[in-house]
Amino acid sequence: MPATEFDIIQRYFREGAGKVSDAHAKTVRCGIGDDCAVLAIPAGEELLLSVDTLVESVHFPKAYSPALLARRALAVCVSDLAASGASPLAFTLALTLPVVDENWLCEFSAALAQAASEFGVVLVGGDTTRGPLCMSLQVMGSAPAGQALLRSGAQIGDLIYVSGSVGDAHAALACLGQAPQNLNDDQRYLLARYHAPTPRLALGFKLRNLATAAIDISDGLAADLTHIVNVSGVAAVLNLQNLPISPALQRTGDAIDSALSGGDDYELCFTVPASRRADIAVLSESLNLALTEVGYIEAGSGLRCYDAQQNLYSPRGGYQHF
Ligand code: ADP
Ligand code: MG
Repeated sequence: MPATEFDIIQRYFREGAGKVSDAHAKTVRCGIGDDCAVLAIPAGEELLLSVDTLVESVHFPKAYSPALLARRALAVCVSDLAASGASPLAFTLALTLPVVDENWLCEFSAALAQAASEFGVVLVGGDTTRGPLCMSLQVMGSAPAGQALLRSGAQIGDLIYVSGSVGDAHAALACLGQAPQNLNDDQRYLLARYHAPTPRLALGFKLRNLATAAIDISDGLAADLTHIVNVSGVAAVLNLQNLPISPALQRTGDAIDSALSGGDDYELCFTVPASRRADIAVLSESLNLALTEVGYIEAGSGLRCYDAQQNLYSPRGGYQHF
């Protein structure tokens, strides 16, 4: 007998990513199976939430591995919690499937459960419909009242930092269709960065009391930093020779453009008062994560980028902010 909508929810989601562990028992008063999920938010905290939609052929390639898709979809969404300094709580999944493919669902739900446990969120509800493959995931987290990181707090004189390295995921796009046996080590590294981004949750959490503004890099450093300066009413200066570029990306030859304009890395870009430089060095050490100073905030508007010779450099794509 073909699986019903109820069977799918029960088998693949309620008993997988929706299984409430002891760690979430205090938060989830009611999870999958009722009209609404009921969550208890820690006393004195605010609810932070964000939703992301992924459409086949737009946000991921056709016939993409269901396991990679599940992890990537949740990582991308949880990255918004990281950028806001949230403690992760829960998520919902609205899933549209063209057919009921039990193998696909099995792989997808197992990887989703694994990623949920890794990121500290639990699936508390959703919707299952038929149509072209697409999904919306909504994540929820919390932070002490008034402490969520916003894009709007950058101040004149602040330093600009970037976590990890940028540009890798964009460079991976060129190798997405290649047969695995034809890939070299650099291409394998770049592809892993595209397929399995790491939401910087621990960093975001620690930045609550350090950063004045933060954003996760989904559209490229130039575009995302521009969001910070626009809503903060300030200008940014980027020193391109300081951008954190992985050795693999360096060897592709298109490193600066990928690092500035390529999205999908899900690293954090954040601003901190210059007086906190030493605290960032300590944080980088304790998280074992590169936190690289790439520029500073000044009065004015827009973004200016300087290359190693101190020449003004225009990010690719006709960026119009200066
Ligand atoms: P309703 O008709 O009240 O919207 P549904 O029949 O759509 O409820 O869903 C039944 C229960 O299963 C609800 O608790 C809903 O949140 C949950 N659910 C449905 N689809 C999913 C899914 N893809 N992932 C997780 N939970 C789901
Ligand atoms: Mg429904």
